[in-house]
Amino acid sequence: MDADEILRLDLRHVWHPYAAVPAGVPAHVVCRAEGVRLTLADGRELVDGMSSWWAAVHGYNHPRLNEALRGQLDDMAHVMFGGLTHEPAVRLARTLAGMTGMDRVFLADSGSVAVEIAIKMAIQHDAGHRGRSTLLTVRGGYHGDTFGAMSVCDPVNGMHHLFSGVLPRHVFAPRPPAYGLDDDDPRLAAYLDELSALVAAHADELAAIIVEPVVQGAGGMRFYHPACLRRLRELADEHDVLLIADEIATGFGRTGELFGCDHAGIRPDIMCVGKALTGGYLSLAATLCTERVAARVGVLMHGPTFMGNPLAAAVANASLDLLAERPWRAEVAQIEAGLVAGLAEARDAPGVKDVRVLGAIGVIETHRPVDVAKIQDIVMARGVWLRPFGTLIYAMPPYACTPEDVDRIAAAMVAASGVL
Ligand SMILES: *Cc1c(COP(=O)(O)O)cnc(C)c1O
Repeated sequence: MDADEILRLDLRHVWHPYAAVPAGVPAHVVCRAEGVRLTLADGRELVDGMSSWWAAVHGYNHPRLNEALRGQLDDMAHVMFGGLTHEPAVRLARTLAGMTGMDRVFLADSGSVAVEIAIKMAIQHDAGHRGRSTLLTVRGGYHGDTFGAMSVCDPVNGMHHLFSGVLPRHVFAPRPPAYGLDDDDPRLAAYLDELSALVAAHADELAAIIVEPVVQGAGGMRFYHPACLRRLRELADEHDVLLIADEIATGFGRTGELFGCDHAGIRPDIMCVGKALTGGYLSLAATLCTERVAARVGVLMHGPTFMGNPLAAAVANASLDLLAERPWRAEVAQIEAGLVAGLAEARDAPGVKDVRVLGAIGVIETHRPVDVAKIQDIVMARGVWLRPFGTLIYAMPPYACTPEDVDRIAAAMVAASGVL
């Protein structure tokens, strides 16, 4: 098919993420991805500033990931996981347990499903003894698009009013204060007091607390103070409720630490990982828990058809091996430094509300929602791929980006911030 035919059929039949049909703005046809570059059908080459939504940390068409997939394909593409097991899944579970300090690994098809499973675990964990099913979270969060996950997303961003009849009601604490705040800032102390009071007030209904550790991703790209996470851990212990860490976006080095929880030095009771797990190759996620939680859950009522898919597990194993080999900490620090330096200039633009960077995540927040097509025209003219949303022009480049790639991404973001 040529590019015109692809676009014609796309407009005729395809539904894109968070879009109407036909889409208001046509998509761009991509025909190849190699390293950190996407090649469009019209021949343009773009540096990928998005890692395909936090996932492609090693870059595209990676020989090691390709080889892992091809090798696995010759053994078996898939077998059911009920009553059968295999090396790729077992190896992956061992590696994840080793990386996280958790004991049990439930493999799921996607991040949202991993969050559903975490919520089920928490409810089943409580079922035998107290029968609670309410969760507490903070505003500004994002945990996925299925109903259980949606119910703990920010109620405004997550458009809860559209689904009010079917979403369970949970308890929402205010947005946590920003990452950079001084440890002795009175605003932080006030927030922690408020959090403690809220948890105490609802302690007899709560099964679990669920948060994205330190970085709130799709709910607003905000970085919050690790003291909030430490307080949530203490409150969970004090009131005997579980702490669920949704590390789907933050996991595997993105924030500068291996996991978001490492910023606070805490370990959750249940943890979700996804996105970068397969290096962006296939949909796979996992819900992990401690032995203590698993023992009380008993028979977990979940079992996806494609659970433990050997192809996805094999490419995840190769991706985690690559992560262990690559100097990701230094790479993320270098991307962070490049984004800090490169985005500084955007602070003075009249339409810009805030500029912030943490690890390999760079954000320009604007006062008013951006015109996505216009911003994309500007950054694509500078050879960069970004997908802004709402009031956010942001990047989370692959760890494989060179300093020049990062400079190019930051310069494109600054140029975009000049036309708001
Ligand atoms: C993306 C994301 C999810 C959902 O993952 P999907 O694979 O898109 O279902 C859940 N939680 C967080 C924190 C995410 O960033």
